[in-house]
Amino acid sequence: MTRRLFRYADHRITRHPGTTPTVGARCLALGCGWTTRDGLTLEEADLACLAHTGSFRHKTFERTFTDTALVERVP
Ligand SMILES: [Zn+2]
Repeated sequence: MTRRLFRYADHRITRHPGTTPTVGARCLALGCGWTTRDGLTLEEADLACLAHTGSFRHKTFERTFTDTALVERVP
């Protein structure tokens, strides 16, 4: 007979210290194809979208957020 022993430990997930999330955006206007470059801050991405709207009157954007996560065991 085989016995199995399972142990559980609580963990938490947080943003990795010393990292900053990055943001990208792309215009959703039909046929536009405008995107920001990768690795912008939220403020930089927002300013880029605002400038695009000012130039082309396109006002809907998809924003993507990327960050580095850290999983740690809770003591
Ligand atoms: Zn556009």
